[in-house]
Amino acid sequence: MSPAEIERELHESNGVNRNLLELPPRILIARRTMDNVDHGPIMVAFRNETDAAHYKTYGVFYRGDHCYARDYIETKRINGCLNCHELTHSTHSCSR
Ligand SMILES: [Zn+2]
Repeated sequence: MSPAEIERELHESNGVNRNLLELPPRILIARRTMDNVDHGPIMVAFRNETDAAHYKTYGVFYRGDHCYARDYIETKRINGCLNCHELTHSTHSCSR
């Protein structure tokens, strides 16, 4: 799955034309994760709030499945320790 394929599916199944979008669709999971799942989050940025509100209300269809749409909320990534999995320090400063 690529952003171009997602864009084509959004157009063919939902009537979302490229000119409605501010940016190409963005896949929000790592590629290695995508290989092991059959669904995942995609960010679609509409140019105007009316279009965004419409798709948040009715959702979208993707390959025949109904998908929910909701606001994207940017959050700060938590970089915990990959060594001991504590969230209080980074891997570089781990003392274990
Ligand atoms: Zn640690």
